[in-house]
Amino acid sequence: MEEYKQTNKCSQRSNRHASGISWRLFGALAMFVVVILAVVWIFQVLLLNRFYESTKMDEFKSISDALFASIDDGEELRRQVYTYSADSDTCIRVFEVVNGVADEIADSDINAGCTIHHIESDGLSELYIDACSNGGTVTKRILSPAEDDRSINAVHVSVVKGGSGREYIIMLDSEFAPLNATVQTLEKQFGWITCILIMGALILALAMSRVICVPMEKMSRSARRLAKGDYSVQFDGRGYREAGELADALNYATEELAKNDNLQKELVANISHDLRTPLTMIKGYSEVMRDIPGENSPENVQVIIDETERLTELVNDMLDLSKIKSGTRKPELETFDLTLDINAVMKRYEKLTEHDDYKISFEYDVNVCIHADRTMILQVVYNLINNAINYTGEDKSVRIVQRVEGNTVRVSVIDTGEGIKQEDLPFIWDRYYKVDKFHNRAKVGTGLGLSIVKGILEAHGASYGVKSEIGVGSEFYFELDVTAFCDKEQIF
Ligand code: ADP
Repeated sequence: MEEYKQTNKCSQRSNRHASGISWRLFGALAMFVVVILAVVWIFQVLLLNRFYESTKMDEFKSISDALFASIDDGEELRRQVYTYSADSDTCIRVFEVVNGVADEIADSDINAGCTIHHIESDGLSELYIDACSNGGTVTKRILSPAEDDRSINAVHVSVVKGGSGREYIIMLDSEFAPLNATVQTLEKQFGWITCILIMGALILALAMSRVICVPMEKMSRSARRLAKGDYSVQFDGRGYREAGELADALNYATEELAKNDNLQKELVANISHDLRTPLTMIKGYSEVMRDIPGENSPENVQVIIDETERLTELVNDMLDLSKIKSGTRKPELETFDLTLDINAVMKRYEKLTEHDDYKISFEYDVNVCIHADRTMILQVVYNLINNAINYTGEDKSVRIVQRVEGNTVRVSVIDTGEGIKQEDLPFIWDRYYKVDKFHNRAKVGTGLGLSIVKGILEAHGASYGVKSEIGVGSEFYFELDVTAFCDKEQIF
């Protein structure tokens, strides 16, 4: 029930998310459309008349300037008047003021709606006076005098002084096209354009959100399967790059989760196997000794003691490893003589050397001091030596070699065993990894030794490794910084 609820919640969440995307996209696109239309509307509709007016004014000014440039050359002036008048659909009259009387020296009357050619001399005088009182130029809107033409004309008058010192009046007149109808048309069009574009934005938003959501929905379905423990699930992020990257990351996470899950299952299986075996032995031997008086022998008691030791060793290793892995056991650094301590360790193996013909040697040139957690580093040394003893060859020889290079000391534990296959080398540091996959009890060991070694050395930032050759043997080593070279005499 709980699981069903969770799934349901999840799908609700994902639905909410999907609709969120389409509405968000629609909002953004609609906003964009509205802003663009507003800008276009302001320029095309609201300010159209103003722009038109200012363009007209600029045109009048440039014609007026061009005519002024040739005002003293009658022939050229007439030519210019004719050209400009035709090019810009403008009526032109140019007067020269002689003894207070305006005498027309050039003109062009190109259409019937021309105001300046049809207004009386009083009207012309009024325009002249207005121009003079306005600093030399004036522009006015005047209703066309033609009976059948009710359009508005723009009349521009400029009063200028020629090179000869004479006064001239330039009059320009052109139709001021009524733009109101255009503006109304545009406004109507804008209404339609806005509706069409908003609809377009909605369709585009829905299409885009589909493109975005489909891979997301597929991935969330896969994630739900993964949550139920199905590690065979594949995340499919086809559609666009970001979804692909997310799918790759999730596929990678799935692989890692699967590995972890396998490891955990293996761990539980191995631990229960390792704990059950000595416990069964202890129980079995104890029962035999209780029930059959003759079996109460020192050999049987020894079996119980051995199995108890093995159990203790296993539990201790597990505790050590979990402390190191979880970070509860942090290295307590101190400076100590590593060479001296390895020598002390060697003493513990003396019994093996004496009774079991093991040849365990320690080679070194100089005593070195290191700054590390003493107990932890000695545990590394023990674990490596124990492994070497367990796996060494028939000659039962194990060499511990200490070499100093620069400021680094390398401790190698070398055996003459069967060696480890190249393909197994990267995995032997994993918990419970056994080269012989049958979790064989014949070779003594908890299967945790190298993981503990790895955990300790990594906590110290030390480099470590293994070199191995089939049929020749293996060399496990680690390297640490030397803090001082100690006096060799000290150890004796
Ligand atoms: P174990 O308790 O099984 O020795 P370890 O973690 O110490 O567990 O070692 C992991 C595996 O690495 C061993 O099972 C063994 O297969 C391999 N191994 C470790 N040391 C040696 C060695 N000196 N020579 C050959 N194989 C080794």
